Amino acid sequence: MLSHLGAVVDNCLFCKIAQKQIPSSIVYEDEELMVFKDIRPAAPVHLLVIPKTHISTLSDCTAGHAPLLGRMLALAPRLAEEHGCAVTFNDDGEPSGGYKTLVNSGPDGGQEIYHLHLHVIGGPHPWKVEVARHG
Ligand code: 5GP
Ligand code: ZN
Repeated sequence: MLSHLGAVVDNCLFCKIAQKQIPSSIVYEDEELMVFKDIRPAAPVHLLVIPKTHISTLSDCTAGHAPLLGRMLALAPRLAEEHGCAVTFNDDGEPSGGYKTLVNSGPDGGQEIYHLHLHVIGGPHPWKVEVARHG
């Protein structure tokens, strides 16, 4: 099946979410991108930014994908602002708030769903996201 933007893979969970065949808590959508809440949040804020078109993993991306990847990443500060975890600085220049932006790639990178997605994970601690597997 082809959407107006590109390939949609029939058995892909996030393609189905992008096509609204499977419900999700959508917090942002435009022509190219969708953002929804992670079903198993690792922190008070846990959002997934996806392209509507199917790209299986970051390793399938080339320089031609830079604008798309840039738009995905550039959404993070706006999402953080809207969800109360923006980075702010007080009058003494001390930072507070914050979030992680994370793309897991391949089995050793911890990727479970093979449709490119950017995690935006933040909010007040305590919470801990493993960014590396050891052993
Ligand atoms: P990965 O490990 O591939 O980087 O992350 C996949 C993420 O997708 C996980 O954090 C997982 O909780 C989330 N996820 C898996 N299935 C669903 C689903 O059906 N709906 C939503 N909203 N998130 C999902
Ligand atoms: Zn897909």
